[in-house]
Amino acid sequence: MEIRTAEGNELRSFKFKDEDQNQEVRAVERRILLESLANQLPPDSIRFSSKLENIITTGNGKTLLEFGDGKQLLAKIVIACDGVRSPIAKWMGFSEPKYVGHCAFRGLGFYLNGQPFEPKVNYIYGRGLRAGYVPVSPTKVYWFICYNSPSPGPKVMDPVALKKQAKELVRKWPEELLNLIDLSQDETISKTPLVDRWLWPGLSPPASKHRVVLVGDAWHPMTPNLGQGGCCALEDAVILARKLADAISHGSDSSVEAAFRSYESERWLRIFPLTIRANVVGSLLQWENPVVCSARNNIVIPKLVRLGPILEHTNFDCEPLYDANI
Ligand SMILES: Cc1cc2nc3c(=O)[nH]c(=O)nc-3n(C[C@H](O)[C@H](O)[C@H](O)COP(=O)(O)OP(=O)(O)OC[C@H]3O[C@@H](n4cnc5c(N)ncnc54)[C@H](O)[C@@H]3O)c2cc1C
Repeated sequence: MEIRTAEGNELRSFKFKDEDQNQEVRAVERRILLESLANQLPPDSIRFSSKLENIITTGNGKTLLEFGDGKQLLAKIVIACDGVRSPIAKWMGFSEPKYVGHCAFRGLGFYLNGQPFEPKVNYIYGRGLRAGYVPVSPTKVYWFICYNSPSPGPKVMDPVALKKQAKELVRKWPEELLNLIDLSQDETISKTPLVDRWLWPGLSPPASKHRVVLVGDAWHPMTPNLGQGGCCALEDAVILARKLADAISHGSDSSVEAAFRSYESERWLRIFPLTIRANVVGSLLQWENPVVCSARNNIVIPKLVRLGPILEHTNFDCEPLYDANI
C-alpha cells in the first residue's frame, strides 16, 4: 500500500505481509464476485429484476412477498439482503441509515491493452478530500474519490456529469487519477452518499422477526472507510448458513428462530464496533483544517501510526461453512 499527498509526496508505503503474516488485500470486481456466487446455485434459482413491494406475515408462520411484476412468493424463511435502503429492514422497524457528511464517486478504469499499475492499493490524501485506486484485473482498475458535503445533494445518474464532477474535485491531483476517470466505462461510474446505522443495544430492533432475518447492509450499513461492509455481509452469510443448517436439521420452527437470535448475538459483537470505528476513521480522514492535515501528513501517518492494530479487524476468521472431512 502506498499513501501520498495530493502533490504526489509519499507519506507511507508498506506491505501488508510485513505487518502481519495473515494480512493480504484482495481487490475483486463486484460483478465477478456476484457471478461466482450465482454460479454455485442451481440454474433458474435466481429471479432477476423483481422488486419487492410488500411483505406480509401469514397465519401459518410463513411470509408472503409481493413483487412489482405482480408475482408473489410464499416463503418458509426470508433472508433479507436487500441493501442499505432495505424495505424489509423498514418493515421490521429500523430507522433510515444516517448520512455521515461525505459522498463517494466510484468507477472502474478500463485499459483495453492491459492496465499499467503495480498490484498495490494507492491512497491520496488531501484536505476534506481523498482518493484511491487499486487494480482489480489485468485490464481494470477500481478508483474512488471521497469528499465532504453538508448534504447528499441531488441524485445524478448521467455518467458524463458524474465524470465531470469527479474530475473537478481532483483537477490538480496526480494525472493517473484523472486518466482513470476518463477511461472508466459509463456503467461503472456512480456517486453514493455515505451512510451508516449504529445498532445500539436496547434501542435497535432485533435483526429478525418471526422467520425473517436481515443480512449485510440491510441490517448494518457501515461507511466504507475500513473496506469491511461487503466482507461483513459475506461473514454474516457464512455464520447464518451454519446456524440455519443446524436448526433445520433439528426440524422445528422454534429452532429456526433461535438460530436467528444466535446469529444476531454473535454477529453484533463484530459489526457494532466496526461500524463505529469505520465512522470515526472516516471523520479523521476527511478533516479539512490545514493545520490538522499538516500534522496528519507530517507526523501521524509517517511516524506515529502503528499499522498492526489498525489492520487487526481484517484478521477475523468466520471458519469454513462446512467440514470438508465429513
Ligand atoms: C464507496 C463505497 C466503497 C466500498 N468499498 C468496500 C470495500 O472496499 N470492501 C468492502 O467489503 N465493502 C465495501 N463497500 C461496502 C459494500 O459495497 C457493501 O457493504 C455491500 O455491497 C453490502 O452487500 P449487501 O449484499 O448487503 O447489499 P447490496 O450489495 O447493496 O445488495 C443489495 C441488493 O438488494 C437489491 N434490492 C434492493 N431493494 C430491493 C427490493 N425492494 N426488491 C428486490 N431487491 C432489492 C439491490 O438491487 C441489490 O442487488 C463499499 C461501499 C461504498 C458505498
